[in-house]
Amino acid sequence: MKILIVGTGYVGTTTGLIFCKMGHQVTGLDLDERKINALQAGKLYFYEPGLEDLLTKHVSAQNIRFTTDTENAVKENDVIFICVGTPLGPQGKADLTFVKNVAGTIGRYMNHYKVIVTKSTVPVGTAENVTNWIKENQPSSIPFDVVSNPEFLREGSALHDALNPDRIVIGASSDKARAVMRNLYKDFQCPIIETNPQASEMIKYAANSFLAMKISFINELARVCDALGINVNDISTGIGLDHRIGPHFLRAGMGFGGSCFPKDVNALIQTSKETGRPLSILEKVVQVNDEQQLYFMKKIRQVLGGNLENKTIAVLGLAFKANTDDTRESPSLILIEKLRGEQAAVQVHDPVVKSAGLMQFSKVEETVKGADAVILCTDWNDYKNLDWAALKPLMKQPVIFDGRNMLNKTKIEELGFRYLGVANH
Ligand code: NAD
Repeated sequence: MKILIVGTGYVGTTTGLIFCKMGHQVTGLDLDERKINALQAGKLYFYEPGLEDLLTKHVSAQNIRFTTDTENAVKENDVIFICVGTPLGPQGKADLTFVKNVAGTIGRYMNHYKVIVTKSTVPVGTAENVTNWIKENQPSSIPFDVVSNPEFLREGSALHDALNPDRIVIGASSDKARAVMRNLYKDFQCPIIETNPQASEMIKYAANSFLAMKISFINELARVCDALGINVNDISTGIGLDHRIGPHFLRAGMGFGGSCFPKDVNALIQTSKETGRPLSILEKVVQVNDEQQLYFMKKIRQVLGGNLENKTIAVLGLAFKANTDDTRESPSLILIEKLRGEQAAVQVHDPVVKSAGLMQFSKVEETVKGADAVILCTDWNDYKNLDWAALKPLMKQPVIFDGRNMLNKTKIEELGFRYLGVANH
C-alpha cells in the first residue's frame, strides 16, 4: 500500500519507518525543508536511539522518500497518516491549527478514494472535524474515510514501542476503512481494539491522563513520606509489585513534563468541562505536578541557607527524560528558570541537548566546578555511572539534589556528600 506520512517529527518518522519495515512504500511530507533534506540524506535530525540505522537502510533501498511537495504527495498515496503537532492551545485546549491545515490540503488535492488517519493526539470529535475540513476544500466530491489511530510510543524507545505496541486502537466508521487498517496492521501480534473514532480519540487521552495521575499520586505521597521519614522508593516497590497497580510511572521525582502529558491532561480537562462533567481528579493531577517543582525548590533553598543569590548550581540534564533530546515542558528547564529567577548562577550539562542561552559545558567535570550544589534533573544512564568521588573535590560544597531518585543514597553519603532525593530516606 502507498502510505503518506504528514509531519515527519518523532511520531511521523518512526511510523513511516515501521511501515517500510512491514513492506509498504512510504512518503514522508513536512513543511520544514531542513528536516526533509536531512531525512532524505538518511540523517535523523533529532535524537532517537536506533532510528537512524533504519532510516538509512530504507532511504537507500528507496522504500521511503521525503518531500515538501504536498500536491503530488497527496495525489500519489492511498493512506494518509496525519502526524503533525497538536500543542497546548489557548485555555488549555489542543491547538488543531496544523491538523486543520493538513486536512484542507488533503481536500484540495484529493484525486481518488483515500483513508485519512489521525495519528496525532486529537480531542474527541476531531475525526468529524477533519471530515468537514476535507469536504470544505474538495473541488468536487470524492469519497474518503477518516480513521482515528492514536500513537502510544514513548520518545527514547520509539522504535521498540512502535514495533511492539501493547495494543493498536482503530476508530473507524466504515467497513472499507476498517479493512484497510486491519490489512496495514496484519503483521502485528498485539490485540487490536476496533471502536468508533470518538472512543479511539478518548482512549489516547485517558491513557496519558491515567499515567500522569500515577505520577502525581506518588509525588504527593512522597511529600507525606518525607514528613514521616519514609523512603518513598520502598512504597513504589511495595505497591508496584501488586499486578493490579503495576510498577510503571510510580517513581517519585520532580514532576512530569514532556510534549505529551501536560498538554494532553489539560486538553482532557477542557473536553470534560465542555460536557459539564469536569474531571476534577485531573485538575488535582496538574496542581500536584506544579507544586512538586515548588516543593523541590524549597528544599534546595533551605539546604543552601535560605537564599540562592550568588550560589552556583550545576544542573545535570535538560531533556525531559533520558534517551531523548526533547525539552518540551522539561521539568529541568522550568527549574532552571526558577533558579535563575532567584539570582543563582546556573551551569548546565546534557549528553545530547544543546541549549541556547544557558551556560552549558560539554563535560560534567566542568559543569560541577565551583558548584554549591548539583541537581540531577534527567535520568540519563551517564549520570548514574559518574565517578562522584572524583567530582567532589571540584565542587565548592558537596551537595547533591537527586530529582530522579537515581543514585544510591548510602554510597553517595559514604563519599561525604550531603544527599537529598525526593523522600529518599
Ligand atoms: P513533532 O513536533 O516532532 O513533529 C510534527 C511535525 O509536523 C513537524 O516536523 C512539523 O514541521 C510538521 N508539520 C506541521 N504542520 C505541517 C503541515 N501542514 N504539513 C506537513 N508537516 C507539518 O511532533 P511529535 O512529537 O511527532 O507529535 C506529533 C503528534 O503525535 C502530536 O499530536 C503528539 O501529541 C502525538 N504523540 C507524540 C508522541 C511523542 O512521544 N512525541 C507520542 C504519542 C503521540
